[in-house]
Amino acid sequence: MIVLGIESTAHTFGVGIINESLRILSDVRRQYFPPKGMGIEPFQTAEYHSKYSVDVVKKAIEEAGISIKEIDAIAYSKGPGLGPCLRIGATIARALSLKYNIPLYPVHHAIGHIELVRSYFNLSNPLIVLVSGGHTVITAYRGGRWRPYGETLDITIGNLLDVFAREVGLDFPGGPIIEKLASRGKRYVELPYNIKGCNFQFSGLLTKAIQLMKKGQVSIEDLSFSLQETAFSIIVEATERALTSLKDSINSLAITGGVASNNVLYEKLVKMANIHGLKVYRLDKRWNSDNGVQIAIVGLRMLQQGLEGVPPEEAYILQKWRFDEVDIQWM
Ligand code: AMP
Ligand code: MG
Repeated sequence: MIVLGIESTAHTFGVGIINESLRILSDVRRQYFPPKGMGIEPFQTAEYHSKYSVDVVKKAIEEAGISIKEIDAIAYSKGPGLGPCLRIGATIARALSLKYNIPLYPVHHAIGHIELVRSYFNLSNPLIVLVSGGHTVITAYRGGRWRPYGETLDITIGNLLDVFAREVGLDFPGGPIIEKLASRGKRYVELPYNIKGCNFQFSGLLTKAIQLMKKGQVSIEDLSFSLQETAFSIIVEATERALTSLKDSINSLAITGGVASNNVLYEKLVKMANIHGLKVYRLDKRWNSDNGVQIAIVGLRMLQQGLEGVPPEEAYILQKWRFDEVDIQWM
């Protein structure tokens, strides 16, 4: 079985090809970087994807060393994400499906992040911390779906880092730049710490951090350090609360999504998990950020389960779509 996955929810247009042993035959991506001071504008980003998408598909097939006719399924990101960007991925998927008569599988982007880390470490009952530009949620599989046991009530952690970076004149994506600056920070300045049960909020923290930066009383290094310390402690505390309530039924922790590449967050999580005798699983950096393989792997699971694909004319997109609305039939 060979599955081709197409990712295009936001900044990245990616195509990944895998086989039934989860061997990655190819992984080709192009990432859009906005002009300085700007965010990811949906139409400009979609134009970028449109320009490079055919090339990315061709390269992925070439790199995999297969003929397109050997592909058993095409999976694409149905959502959630930026409408114009999603539309590019879905259109390419439709066209390939129609021309070569290959079944088509719509995939939830977050389920892709989750399934990738779960499958590669063969985790049976993990608590997953998904931290990215689109999601910040602590989730476990119960009764046929991934259920949220804690999540942001306003903006995501990726949003917090990227918007802070943009407002203070740093490049996109902000996360890795803030991580570097924070490593040189020494003084902690107090920032809003909002946690309610296992849920939390970041917008007060963002506003305060921007205000402090604009007043010029705190260095960018100290502010980056304080921002990371506060936001990551919130996530780890919420995870610990969720973990405590689920403890008997959880046997590992995993972290995924773009922000999972942050070592400060990872180390905090490991420290907390050690207290509870649990191991934290994290994929290599490359697999935390958006890619076609995470979409292909969900397509593979659907195919293995004997699920039928959708007809090309029904290859819709959904800009807003919660991951806990998706029935998981392969676990
Ligand atoms: P995704 O939406 O999964 O592609 O993740 C993108 C997000 O990950 C962006 O908000 C980035 O700023 C963030 N990110 C990437 N690398 C790091 C890092 N080392 N530390 C913190 N955030 C990061
Ligand atoms: Mg993502």
